Amino acid sequence: MFTGVKGWPILADPKRAPIARQIDDADVAYRQALEPADQVDFIKCIYDGEPGAPDKLPFDALKAIVAAAHEKDKKVLVHVHERGDLEEAVAAGADGIEHAFQPQDPGSTAEARDVAALLAETNTCYCPTLVTWEQLAHNGDIGCLHQLVDDGFATHDDIPEITARPICGSEFPRHSAQDSHIRFDYAMRTLGLMHDAGVRISAGSDVALLMPSPPVALLRELHLLAKAGLPLPAVLAAGTRHSAEKIGRQATITVGSVADALLLDADPYADITHLIDRSRHIGTVRAVRPSWGEHLAR
Ligand SMILES: [Zn+2]
Repeated sequence: MFTGVKGWPILADPKRAPIARQIDDADVAYRQALEPADQVDFIKCIYDGEPGAPDKLPFDALKAIVAAAHEKDKKVLVHVHERGDLEEAVAAGADGIEHAFQPQDPGSTAEARDVAALLAETNTCYCPTLVTWEQLAHNGDIGCLHQLVDDGFATHDDIPEITARPICGSEFPRHSAQDSHIRFDYAMRTLGLMHDAGVRISAGSDVALLMPSPPVALLRELHLLAKAGLPLPAVLAAGTRHSAEKIGRQATITVGSVADALLLDADPYADITHLIDRSRHIGTVRAVRPSWGEHLAR
């Protein structure tokens, strides 16, 4: 993971700091991206912050990282803030964009249309992480937690555990609740038009700060994609094929291939709840091992 100098809060996270590299030079970036490329599944670049500020990864460095990764056949996913970041990331050759962008004019869909045209034309994957913006927009809002219970993503017993977390009710670094609200609403409103324009959308949970667990956050993301108006085949593709393609994995199952699978007892193309209701999850195949009927891990 590459950031600018003293970049994203990842550096303050002891679990993730060892995989983060702070970059202010394109040549160093190229070498540092080339060296671990054989050992990683993909490379993520954090490309937000004010242009020219030391905490923003320089554009030349971003280009150098993409070039090194592509030499090693690895994909590069770029975390963006605003539309300008997204456009530069695409210009640098990013394979995927992480996070719905923060609109400058939330009242107009023009930005989303421009971005959609760019992403479709360059076949760049778009992972809006709606569930992240939903959580950050409603941090500490008990009504939102009850909504999760009503929608089947949490139980009443989960609520005290979630509200006891230190992040609950305190502002997330760099993303105010107000901005996150705007980002969430705008993405929910414009994702349908992005899909219609031919953008490949993938499903990502990102954080589970105010969700029972990361897998549940991913199910919530699928639910939100459907709520945003994506047709169900596109929601399913977001959680499977597009996510595989995004990191350069084989995206279709063929004879002799190895795949993990989730078995449902109802058709997810008929109703999204057939996928997100965990009582419908009747079996899994993981690392070639089937497991049936028993209560599946949350
Ligand atoms: Zn990110």
